[in-house]
Amino acid sequence: MGQYVAPRRDMQFVLHELLRAEDEFRQLPPYSEMSRDLLDQVLEEAGKFASEVLFPLNHIGDEEGCHFENGVVTTPKGFKRAYEQFREAGWPSLAADPAYGGQGLPHTIGYALEEILNSANQAFAMYPLLTHGAYQALRAHGTEDQKRIFLPKLVSGEWTGTMCLTEPQAGSDLGLLRTRAEPSRDGSYKITGTKIFVSSGEHDLSQNIVHLVLARLPDGPPGTKGISLFIVPKFLPTADGEVGERNNVKCGSIEHKMGIHGNATCVMNMEDATAWMVGQPNRGLQAMFVMMNGARIGVGMQGLGQTEVAYQNALAYAKERVQARALSGPKAPNRPADPIIVHADVRRMLLTQKAYVEGGRAFAYWVALLLDKSDSHPDEQVRKECQDLVALLTPVVKAFLTDNGVTCTNLALQVFGGHGYIREGGMDQYVRDARINTIYEGTNGIQALDLLGRKVLLDGGVKLGRLGVIVKSFVEDASQSQGMAEFTAPLGALVGKIEQLTMEIGGKAQERPDEVSAAAADYLRLVGHLMLGYFWAKSARIALDPKFASDPFYVAKLATARFYFSRLFTETESLFLSARSGASNLLALDAELF
Ligand SMILES: Cc1cc2nc3c(=O)[nH]c(=O)nc-3n(C[C@H](O)[C@H](O)[C@H](O)COP(=O)(O)OP(=O)(O)OC[C@H]3O[C@@H](n4cnc5c(N)ncnc54)[C@H](O)[C@@H]3O)c2cc1C
Repeated sequence: MGQYVAPRRDMQFVLHELLRAEDEFRQLPPYSEMSRDLLDQVLEEAGKFASEVLFPLNHIGDEEGCHFENGVVTTPKGFKRAYEQFREAGWPSLAADPAYGGQGLPHTIGYALEEILNSANQAFAMYPLLTHGAYQALRAHGTEDQKRIFLPKLVSGEWTGTMCLTEPQAGSDLGLLRTRAEPSRDGSYKITGTKIFVSSGEHDLSQNIVHLVLARLPDGPPGTKGISLFIVPKFLPTADGEVGERNNVKCGSIEHKMGIHGNATCVMNMEDATAWMVGQPNRGLQAMFVMMNGARIGVGMQGLGQTEVAYQNALAYAKERVQARALSGPKAPNRPADPIIVHADVRRMLLTQKAYVEGGRAFAYWVALLLDKSDSHPDEQVRKECQDLVALLTPVVKAFLTDNGVTCTNLALQVFGGHGYIREGGMDQYVRDARINTIYEGTNGIQALDLLGRKVLLDGGVKLGRLGVIVKSFVEDASQSQGMAEFTAPLGALVGKIEQLTMEIGGKAQERPDEVSAAAADYLRLVGHLMLGYFWAKSARIALDPKFASDPFYVAKLATARFYFSRLFTETESLFLSARSGASNLLALDAELF
């Protein structure tokens, strides 16, 4: 049902023309051999796999869902075979360290692959994507022994991974978690407790499942400072790293939920389950943040992936479906009515999706490239600057792209009219699947607090200042170019206005801390528009080159940049008003009076 073709031309535009990825990789020793051809080839193969193997299972997974019987979880028909093919083709190891069997490609390509997988089948993609997150956390914080035993299996995809944070009483506030870890004499631990909402917690795709679990030691202080991180495998590994005895970590049930039906969301019960600590006692959240930060960008790619696939289907429908005539007279006189793409309001819906998905892609791939530079650039100062930018922008990738994903999948459904609302058209699945992305991995409200509270104000605006320098220097340079003023003038003004707003909120928050929470969601969207404005202006600059004047790809880029600045970027004006209105209009009403 429906269609998905990986948007390779636009991915190439982002990688080669906007980001000049090949030149950037040449500076990074592990990736210096990465050629444009190789990158294109990987995306081509990934696109084929996604369209031929994963996309056909998307609707089946949604209809059938996962099955639970006596603690055993079975994935929808076709998922197991698809996972075997996924492994055989080497996709799990693409962006992993060759020391553990990986292919050593950069994060940038890993995240581009994630976009493709998520467009084709988000529920399926979650099994390997969490595995990659577990790999990243263990690679950063595991002991040599833990790395030797677990990493090759996670990299090959023979074993999959999960993250077990949430408990019934501990969601956004992990300081409330109760799962206990008792030390054993042999250096291992015994874990007891219940985790809920564990994605891919139990299933039939892999030989073993490696749970990364947050728990509290007997003497761990209350709150987030008393949390440690543990590996709790479904089957204990033997000394030579193969599957051994069954551990006491069992799936109690799976959730019936709004979307991503093909992914098992599990209640996981642990009763004296054998575990090993990762990293330092009581510093589990820091270790888990490696997985969480990677996963936050990954959830941004889910929002982007859903936007892309919904847009492709809405666009195809809008060209096919005929209703009424264009107000300016017939555009398809041989047909009984004009295709709905002639109507301005349908174009508004399509262009909103196009502008958010293409702008979002440029922004997200850039952050992924910054991640590669923060890991591998030979100059320590560059690494530090890139780390700061990644830290600042991770909550923005997560929340801005997933909020836009909800907006855009709804608009895509709207383009189908009633045929979108009934299940037959398949558009409802994109709306339902995209909805979770604003909730898990830290709700978007929590992301906004992280951005404004921790990443901007606590840091005295240093990281924001770094971003401002990048945007301002582009504006200064590009505003000299013919035809660029319509883009650079509003973009340049936005940087200054955000800096001003930041100072105002910082000042007000000293008297009244609630001011931060009250402004945070608006503030995050402002920074999101700063980024999309930056990339749409950069795209326009490329498209304005006279040599592209009659090339349809660049003509469309320029028109979309103009649409973005005229109709989406303008949201910033109301965001400033709302952010400045302060906390009192939110907090004046007593809870009882609602
Ligand atoms: C399908 C699915 C899959 C999931 N997968 C996993 C997984 O693999 N592993 C895992 O550990 N968890 C997983 N989760 C859990 C998910 O991460 C949590 O649901 C999420 O972090 C929010 O926690 P909560 O549901 O308890 O909501 P709450 O924390 O109760 O939040 C409720 C509302 O209050 C807001 N809120 C809370 N605190 C604040 C605050 N301080 N300031 C402002 N607003 C606030 C939130 O933004 C939200 O809108 C999954 C959840 C679902 C539904």
